[in-house]
Amino acid sequence: MDLLARLSNVPAVSGFEHEAQKLVADELRPYADEIRTDRLGSVIALRKARKPSRETPYRLLYAAHIDEIGFMVSYIDDRGFIYFIPIGGFDARTLPSQRVTVHGTAGDEPSKLEGVIPSKPGWMTDDEDRKRVIPIDELFVDTGLPAERVKAVVQVGDAINLSKEFEVLNDEIVTGRNFDDRVGTYSLIDSFRRIEENTVDVYAVSTVQEEVGVRGVPTAAHAIGADICVAIDGSLPSDIPFAKSHRAQCPIGGGTGIYLMDNRTIGDRDLLRGLIDTCERHDIRYQRNIGGGTDASAVQRAGLGAKATTIGAPTRYMHSTVQMCHMRDIRATADLLAYFPRYAHEILPDDWR
Ligand SMILES: [Zn+2]
Repeated sequence: MDLLARLSNVPAVSGFEHEAQKLVADELRPYADEIRTDRLGSVIALRKARKPSRETPYRLLYAAHIDEIGFMVSYIDDRGFIYFIPIGGFDARTLPSQRVTVHGTAGDEPSKLEGVIPSKPGWMTDDEDRKRVIPIDELFVDTGLPAERVKAVVQVGDAINLSKEFEVLNDEIVTGRNFDDRVGTYSLIDSFRRIEENTVDVYAVSTVQEEVGVRGVPTAAHAIGADICVAIDGSLPSDIPFAKSHRAQCPIGGGTGIYLMDNRTIGDRDLLRGLIDTCERHDIRYQRNIGGGTDASAVQRAGLGAKATTIGAPTRYMHSTVQMCHMRDIRATADLLAYFPRYAHEILPDDWR
């Protein structure tokens, strides 16, 4: 859990992923035959085929996005309150009473200020206020510091991230602010270290800017020219009281979710079969997921196209600061990613080109 905690605590708002990508690259490097960072910032590590199924091995691309939703400073007022715009899809209802970290670049050296996004105090609210959600453009960060102290550190354009940290809640139940997609990144790294007897070249890609519309992965997909893509992202558990029973799927603890279809991708039939066969060969718990939207969509349609889908641990409360996962599902995801490269070539037809 140490690596998962470190990955979950490092900030990486979309477009500001540098520090986190350094951590990812350091973790992948000892196990990679080649590693590089592409022009947009995605880290690409290659583990060459150890038992290639043909002279030029097929290419399997694993993609997990390192970025998390956050904010950009848009204005600092005369009293030092910091206004912001969202980077990625936030639910405004979840923001009041959050702790945040502002990554200032106004001084000679980058420097952080800690702050809160307050809720409107009860004694200032009227009946109308109680009924409405405060829109994001009325919210602000309060550091408690005077304007000149704030402006010495922070300027317009700086990143703000939610600062809730990784915790073990109970037994193997863990929580963090960005399990979408840090548990995916964790599974990517953990599996990459254990890949053996792979018949295909495996490219582990830690992508950037997924949360703002899958902007980071296309350049990596173009450079690699993958035959097969498995994105790793949270699947969508509906095992909570808010969900209708006829939408039930992917309870946490039930295994890794294999995406049949999401908002951007219809899972390739041969790839789904190959992933399920791998689970059955190695006693890996899996379940079927419908819904979401991931990096797989861009790789599927890059170049000549790739057989693509997504897998991942069910993640409760995505895009909130209390995302919840079961370690058993995270391990199942990594196991599937570690074993699949032994069989990946089998899903491609003889006339594949
Ligand atoms: Zn995601």
